[in-house]
Amino acid sequence: MRMILVGPPGAGKGTQAARLIDTYGISHISTGDMLRAAVAEGTELGRKADGFMKAGELVPDELVIAMVIERIGKSDCENGFMLDGFPRTRAQAEALDRELEKAGATLDAVVLIEVPDQLIVERITGRRSDPQTGRIYHMIFDPPPEEIADRVVQRSDDTEEACVARLQKYHGETAPIVPFYEEKGILVRADGVGSPDEVTERIKTELEARR
Ligand code: AMP
Repeated sequence: MRMILVGPPGAGKGTQAARLIDTYGISHISTGDMLRAAVAEGTELGRKADGFMKAGELVPDELVIAMVIERIGKSDCENGFMLDGFPRTRAQAEALDRELEKAGATLDAVVLIEVPDQLIVERITGRRSDPQTGRIYHMIFDPPPEEIADRVVQRSDDTEEACVARLQKYHGETAPIVPFYEEKGILVRADGVGSPDEVTERIKTELEARR
């Protein structure tokens, strides 16, 4: 199963990906996580990406495309993968298509998680994660337990200012990939408003209906 999760920042892509990969036995590839790891390790890619990420801008296509192509060629992707946060531009979508075609592979589904803009800023600015487990919390909707409350961290691009920039990028550059996949007949829409469990159920129901 080869899948893509698309949606605005804060739509719940990371949360849903973590749940769905277990169901389908596939690898989770989050370009945001990979880039944050590169920044933390201070690699050449990380140094190039850092400024774009902090400003809520997209990292240039050529850097991200090369990173993803290398990643999906690894053996743990033979069974399939769930791309989370990629593609984010039409050029990325086309590059992925070409790469899959070369390998004689196809995409099974592109899941679009839809959340209205008004909810996004509230979701993003309250978001925290536990650096030890990677688990994501929300200070109001899903607060961390008291014993770990001191160690949860906020992403540097989860400020209101960067969030507004990221939403603009989403509408300007990422939303246009939706018709690209709709035309291919593999787009699945899921309402992303509700509890994580409710959203997971909606996505699974939609995916099962297509099998
Ligand atoms: P995310 O964790 O998916 O919200 O990504 C965090 C940040 O990483 C984004 O705001 C971008 O700066 C960068 N990024 C992640 N994925 C991509 C991508 N596919 N193309 C360009 N930039 C990306």
